[in-house]
Amino acid sequence: MKNRSIQAQHSRRSQISSQYSVIYWVVGICIVALGFAQSKERVFKYAVHDMTRPQPAIVTPGPACISSAPSDAIVLFGGKDLSAWSKAGSDAPAGWSVKDGVATITAGSGNIATRQSFGDCQVHIEWMVPVELKCESQHGCNSGLFFHSRYEIQILNSSGNVTYADGMAGSLYGQYPPMVNPCRPQGEWNTFDVVFRGPRFDASAGIVRTATVTLIFNGVLVQDDVELLGATAHGARATYSSHPDTGPIMLQDHGDPLKFRNIWIRPLGNPQVSE
Ligand code: MG
Repeated sequence: MKNRSIQAQHSRRSQISSQYSVIYWVVGICIVALGFAQSKERVFKYAVHDMTRPQPAIVTPGPACISSAPSDAIVLFGGKDLSAWSKAGSDAPAGWSVKDGVATITAGSGNIATRQSFGDCQVHIEWMVPVELKCESQHGCNSGLFFHSRYEIQILNSSGNVTYADGMAGSLYGQYPPMVNPCRPQGEWNTFDVVFRGPRFDASAGIVRTATVTLIFNGVLVQDDVELLGATAHGARATYSSHPDTGPIMLQDHGDPLKFRNIWIRPLGNPQVSE
């Protein structure tokens, strides 16, 4: 009896000991994993909207030229009306005015968004900041082109108007300044030609592909297949949250009557792969 009792005690002790070993291993693995995750956390050289971030060099673009829509494009604004658009987030008509082939933001009427949803795409858009507007940093001359209603390419007067580099015209707002600054002066038309590829998420909302942007601004490459850090945020680091593969294109009413013309889009298939 005594031997059995001793054996039982030994067996129990070794059970407890192996349980503790498993716990130590699990805790150890967690600590190593946490350390690894921390060591992989991205370190940024500049804060969001950091005024010490260098201003891109000014480049004088070549003469403006009209880039008419190619035959396979969907015309989003051809100068007649804004029927392809609605007040963002609703079915109500877009509240901006149209005159002489030009759409003008009616301040306070709200952002406008395409009625149709788009995924990966090529977009052409022309925009102008009227001469009479007073621009001071982000105020007075601000709009924006958004993909999926959440990823903004900044539209702003960046000719003689200084602001933080990650908020100037052609920036991926709050993330990446344009490589150079080819913005035309107020009263002149600017063009954006964009290739946007949206992010992809898996079934558990994890990101499997980040969004990328290529931007040619007045004929000058300013964003070269740049990976977005996440959805546009003001004064905070961008992060991703899961959304469908398609969404509206949105134009921002920031309270300033900027003008637009000649907007078209070409939906794109998957990126080419070598055969
Ligand atoms: Mg904006």
